[in-house]
Amino acid sequence: AVAMDVTEQVRREQALKHAREQAIEQAAEAQKLATTDPLTGLANRRATFGWLERMMVCSLEIGEPLAVLMFDIDHFKRINDTFGHQTGDEVLCRVATIARAEIRAEDLVGRIGGEEFVCILSGVDEPEARALAERLRHSIEEGTCRVGKMSATVSVGLALLRAGDTVEALMCRADAALYEAKENGRNQVRRAA
Ligand code: GH3
Ligand code: MG
Ligand code: MG
Repeated sequence: AVAMDVTEQVRREQALKHAREQAIEQAAEAQKLATTDPLTGLANRRATFGWLERMMVCSLEIGEPLAVLMFDIDHFKRINDTFGHQTGDEVLCRVATIARAEIRAEDLVGRIGGEEFVCILSGVDEPEARALAERLRHSIEEGTCRVGKMSATVSVGLALLRAGDTVEALMCRADAALYEAKENGRNQVRRAA
């Protein structure tokens, strides 16, 4: 009878351990779903802005520069209309992969809208941010060409953190710079005034 009790006890403990492990796994999965864009695997809009907010506070506190690049695929509607939605999705994934490869491990790239992305570059000053933006723009143009088809390009708006900035104010400047890049002919980098 004692042996049976012990066996039963071990079985219950194992079941409990298994249930706990499952709960931890599910919580991690839920966290991942809440912060990840399912198509590209990048940080989603919410996670990107959350990260930006935290990096802004940190950068202002220690007096380090911070740059954001907001970029948007040029004439993406045309890509969808010409080659189909699935090719459009492939282009989005390709752009995401290239962007992630271009930034450092400590930086973040997120998808904040349909074909709109943001890179958050901490400790990066204007010349460095410009160089990175230019490299990113170039890599996307080169890396998305499909033989005999098209190559996707992006327009990039660059903005630098200022004292007293809010996420909204910083993103608003990046957005204005992006708009200028579009107005000026696309496939180029513009810095916020
Ligand atoms: P612009 O150069 O001014 O940015 O022009 P655009 O055509 O890129 O911009 P517009 O805003 O007119 O079109 C964006 C398109 O992106 C329209 C929408 O159908 C498409 N889109 C948004 N999300 C997705 C997605 O997840 N997959 C695909 N394939 N298309 C998407
Ligand atoms: Mg676009
Ligand atoms: Mg857009």
